[in-house]
Amino acid sequence: MSENELLEQIKKRNPNEPEFIQAVDEVISSIGIVFKKHPEYHRLKLLERMAEPERLISFRVNWLDDAGEVQVNRGFRVQMNSALGPYKGGLRFHPSVNQSILKFLAFEQIFKNALTGLPLGGGKGGADFDPKGKSDNEIMRFCQAFMSELYRHIGHFTDVPAGDIGVGGREIGYLFGTYKKLQNEFTGVLTGKGREWGGSLIRPEATGYGLVYFSQYMLEKVDDSLQDKKCLVSGSGNVAQFTLEKLIELGAKPITASDSSGYIIDEEGINTEKLDLIKEIKNVNRGRISEYLEKYPNAKYEEVDSNQDFNPLWKTKADCAFPCATQNEINKKDAENLKKTGIKLLTEGANMPLTTEAIDIVCESEILYAPGKATNAGGVAVSGLEMSQNRIGVYWSREEVDEKLKNIMKNIHDNCVKTAEEYDLNQHDYLASANIFGFLKVADAMKAQG
Ligand code: GLU
Repeated sequence: MSENELLEQIKKRNPNEPEFIQAVDEVISSIGIVFKKHPEYHRLKLLERMAEPERLISFRVNWLDDAGEVQVNRGFRVQMNSALGPYKGGLRFHPSVNQSILKFLAFEQIFKNALTGLPLGGGKGGADFDPKGKSDNEIMRFCQAFMSELYRHIGHFTDVPAGDIGVGGREIGYLFGTYKKLQNEFTGVLTGKGREWGGSLIRPEATGYGLVYFSQYMLEKVDDSLQDKKCLVSGSGNVAQFTLEKLIELGAKPITASDSSGYIIDEEGINTEKLDLIKEIKNVNRGRISEYLEKYPNAKYEEVDSNQDFNPLWKTKADCAFPCATQNEINKKDAENLKKTGIKLLTEGANMPLTTEAIDIVCESEILYAPGKATNAGGVAVSGLEMSQNRIGVYWSREEVDEKLKNIMKNIHDNCVKTAEEYDLNQHDYLASANIFGFLKVADAMKAQG
């Protein structure tokens, strides 16, 4: 069966799942050369097996809102692949959540987790619940209702969820409290926990910091650095905040942030003080990024225009771009705009932020590009370190965890470069090399396990 036929078959088996097919297609298009070199991977249908969840759980979540009304949501956990370790991956609470989106995320997670070099399988979960505008009590009741079903499917050696969009430290706390009560055990069943009760230092920072470390290694390879680079960052949640923080620390000049309503451009640069305001707006007040202007009126705010088929944020002149909001946030037009403005580097903080067409444009250009499964793996990597600390009962310092995170990101980078050499790829083809390296790790384990 050719790669095209394989994709067609997977499409047929998963109708109406465009995001999932997009993620699978992206991997299939890199794996052809592996099949040529090692036909047994193809014969054993390893990619076809990876594209089928080992288990897919969907459940009802009903909860009471503050008005005393019953609300009904749908919860999911996709246990995608356990060849390398317990299922591992975040929970997303967002109204867009459906089976296709969680399967794409769980599929990506298999490769990302393999790239970290840690013993982690791939999974993802969540609910079509919209946390926007909900009170703290409503969030707590929803988390309790969600975990009152999920608890029977997870465990510290079985499946270890964490956060993702809409699930941060507060939600992990409520979820953990419910799990502990129902199972009567205190284990590292979730990561991203508060540091006083089993969490790892640097876990909140890890995805953003890791993204910037990886970008630094890419630039070093071409004798460049982040110093004084003008940077575009989208999003204003966890990943964006700590991407901004590390960029500022390393002497770059980030100038943008955004949310689903619009974006700010601050040509003077977002510094630590301004970032503290963004953190307060988003994490404490749970407000909108437009509030930035109340304190810094020199910045510009543009609302999202849903009639526009491109995002003007990506037309802003800069050196580096870090999409840290959500999937498919950069389309063909945005990619063309980024190319026109002369962006030098584009690395993904979000999962699959580029559409297939956008990736094609970026890959044919001079832009240094690396995919999220390599560049944003720092988050799950420190989750893996949190699991280790929970098991041995010893907690590492900030410096120790940060050092380990840097090493992991360096290893991912170097393994991509080595794989590119081995398979005669362009030395900057991080997309294919990440797919190939991740695939081989998982495929070998699956082969060994029969
Ligand atoms: N949701 C994050 C990701 O996309 C982190 C997952 C985890 O820590 O398990 O990788």
